[in-house]
Amino acid sequence: MLEKSISQAVEKGEMLPLMEEFYTIQGEGSHTGKAAYFIRVGGCDVGCHWCDVKESWDPEKHPPTAVDAIVANAAKYSKTIVVTGGEPLTWDMGGPLTTGLKSEGMQVHIETSGAYPLSGSWDWICLSPKKMKMPLPEVYEAAHELKVIIFNKHDFAFAKAEAEKVSSNCKLYLQPEWSVREKMIPLITEFVMDNPEWHVSLQTHKYLNIP
Ligand code: SF4
Repeated sequence: MLEKSISQAVEKGEMLPLMEEFYTIQGEGSHTGKAAYFIRVGGCDVGCHWCDVKESWDPEKHPPTAVDAIVANAAKYSKTIVVTGGEPLTWDMGGPLTTGLKSEGMQVHIETSGAYPLSGSWDWICLSPKKMKMPLPEVYEAAHELKVIIFNKHDFAFAKAEAEKVSSNCKLYLQPEWSVREKMIPLITEFVMDNPEWHVSLQTHKYLNIP
């Protein structure tokens, strides 16, 4: 395909810069422990200094891949799909990707910072807000789960302020940033016991040594 037609296909959501796709166990948040097929899309300009997938940031490093092929591949593995990144909402998720996945009868989840307009049709939206590029109001309203990463003690106040913006039935999670987990887990434990509307989320896939 010519370069121009590839960039047009990416613009329409017919192709996406695919970083990796893999079948594993969801390690975080409300669906922890569930087998799921992950589709990791490249491209993110949010710039979290502790990001553990910095290789995802530059979309040019990931091959534009036909969405039909992504859907067909996913269908071989699981009925639960997690679209992650990078920041998936950088791209049009409302085109063939979520339409295709749902037409195969799949439950489609997204992990997003909410920094870009919400596109696509989702069964589960996990919003993980970042201070550097705050979520758009429409994503707060639609989120099923708010997952705040705790890197230092100031993040608890941020988490409380973010919880004010989501719907009343949105589930609330605090997750220690992996490199500081030993320091933050005692603080998170204490916070959740004092504020039981919150739950602890751990990156259990890392403890299990799986992707
Ligand atoms: Fe990394 Fe996610 Fe932050 Fe983007 S939003 S920099 S992918 S942690």
